[in-house]
Amino acid sequence: MIYPNNRTSNIDVKRLNRNRVFRYINRHERISRPELSQSLGISFPTILFITNELIEKGVIREEGEFESTGGRKAKALLPVHDARFALGLDITLNHISIVLTDLSGAALEHIRMQKRFENTEEYRQFLAESLVIFSHDTGVPNEKILGVGISLPGIIDMQQKRLSHSHILNIFDVPCEEISKDIPFPVAFTNDANAAALSELRSRQDYTHALYLSLSNSVGGALIFRKVPSLGGKWDAGVWQNDNLVMGDNFKCGEIGHMTLIPGGKRCYCGKNGCFDAYCNAKILAQHSDGRLELFFNSLKEGNPVLKAEWESYLDHLAAHINSLRMLMDCKVIVGGYVGGFIEPYLGDLHRRLRDMDTFGDDGNYVEACTYRLEASALGAALLHIEAYISSI
Ligand SMILES: [Zn+2]
Repeated sequence: MIYPNNRTSNIDVKRLNRNRVFRYINRHERISRPELSQSLGISFPTILFITNELIEKGVIREEGEFESTGGRKAKALLPVHDARFALGLDITLNHISIVLTDLSGAALEHIRMQKRFENTEEYRQFLAESLVIFSHDTGVPNEKILGVGISLPGIIDMQQKRLSHSHILNIFDVPCEEISKDIPFPVAFTNDANAAALSELRSRQDYTHALYLSLSNSVGGALIFRKVPSLGGKWDAGVWQNDNLVMGDNFKCGEIGHMTLIPGGKRCYCGKNGCFDAYCNAKILAQHSDGRLELFFNSLKEGNPVLKAEWESYLDHLAAHINSLRMLMDCKVIVGGYVGGFIEPYLGDLHRRLRDMDTFGDDGNYVEACTYRLEASALGAALLHIEAYISSI
């Protein structure tokens, strides 16, 4: 139960409790009111009032009853996941991906298309048309679609609503509105690694702090600081800002790809030398297997000695960087992005390296593989709208 204090009004308490009740039901397939009351520590009459409000709003429903444990049978409450939907669009240099999700937050449908980014009107129209066609094909009525979340490989200035830097796409200081002006849905923007971290956050409830590494064709990161209880975030200057991610003073928090790993080392696409990205992006591995990361890991498993040497070197660089991040943050590190989808069998090798370089005797087990893999950035972008809607309940 959340009680009012000097800073929290009665209205806030009611809203927080209603929100907690909905989130709880939304995470469970079937639950009774007595169970809700017990699990959340909220009185039964209050639970009755809140659940009736939620039924009226159309986001939960009653269906069937639980077996009696003596006394009256309790009615079963179920979430109405298809009350609202959202679309997620992930823009990378060579592809676009689109995902459909609902209030469950699961990726219900997705497509991935090869399309090289261009800063042109034709490209922007292609994005809008692809979204309209995809949305039409899903059969979801437009009025149930909350909006489109767009994930971009760059820094999004939430205050100014501008894409301030994207070295990968080679565009700088572009108003977000310019990218989305042809899209016939409300649009929210986010950085690609932050979006992927949101997908990971949704699938796991077991940590409060973590650093998410996105090891895809470029390297990014997101710093998770989960607030409990939380209403999820707020709209700021028209852009959804998730409460559970640290943004920094200039929205650049988590840009770990451009931390210097080797002074004067390999050239990074950002124009500097020795960045972590230049040693640990997914292309470093895929370039040895015709650009196909899956093929790299298949051949590695079969014992290809050249690939083994490349992988060992990759792990050395990855471990060195993770060790620095661990010293700074003292939190879990989740390896995500394209490489994160393949790293599970090699976590032991990574842990050993980390253990050997850890000053405080940690065994490296603080590093885990991501649990969510399918179009993580596109889904995370869609979740901005889902989270905003749920927070408003
Ligand atoms: Zn760089």
